[in-house]
Amino acid sequence: MPRRGRLIVFVAPSGAGKTSVIRLVRSRHGGVAYSVSCTTRPMRPGEVDGRDYRFLDEPTFRRGIDDGRFVEWAEVHGHLYGTPREPLDEALEQDRDVLLDLDVAGSLRLKELYRDRAVTVFLSPPSVDELERRLLGRATDSPEVQRLRLRNALKEMTFRDRFDFQVVNDDLERVCREIDGILGFAPRGEGRGKQQDEGAGRS
Ligand code: ADP
Ligand code: 5GP
Repeated sequence: MPRRGRLIVFVAPSGAGKTSVIRLVRSRHGGVAYSVSCTTRPMRPGEVDGRDYRFLDEPTFRRGIDDGRFVEWAEVHGHLYGTPREPLDEALEQDRDVLLDLDVAGSLRLKELYRDRAVTVFLSPPSVDELERRLLGRATDSPEVQRLRLRNALKEMTFRDRFDFQVVNDDLERVCREIDGILGFAPRGEGRGKQQDEGAGRS
């Protein structure tokens, strides 16, 4: 019997490395879908509309809320972010696993809605000092935005016990191996071919 697709939700304080981890997990398991969120925050250099986020102006985002187009939405660091309903439903109908990158509130909301179908993984930085280094090292945010994100990050860390799994993002390759174990993904290059990796979550 085909296994049902899961919602695999990554949550982490800003700067802990969630984007880097998700990118690596996706590159290792091509068949896993990714939920592209909508946001009103300005695009960062290097980001692509429709790939990283769908960048919307605030009136359009708010119309989406009124029309029920988001499974969940939240205001994070002063901007609106939301998970579009349609692509998520489509992927789940096809029994594909879907990765999501959400804040604490959005992750808890998804768990409440999807229960056993959602797996929540909290990524922690190895230390607060290292978190600060990573946040400040990311040159794409202004100092003011970095300070706001650091304050919010420390608050988000206090919620980590509420998630199914906690993983410390010390070394990216090691983290990916740990996540493969949690999710039951076959490790890359160990007895499973690319074809099977691409089909991850479909059967
Ligand atoms: P987030 O999406 O959680 O805000 P990013 O993935 O953008 O975080 O990572 C923040 C910064 O930390 C980036 O400059 C990234 O290259 C760096 N980083 C992420 N993971 C690691 C790691 N395991 N070791 C060292 N640096 C990392
Ligand atoms: P960033 O601006 O760094 O890309 O993301 C800021 C925060 O918003 C991160 O914690 C990220 O996980 C969260 N986020 C991104 N998309 C969504 C979404 O669709 N819903 C919710 N609730 N949070 C999101």
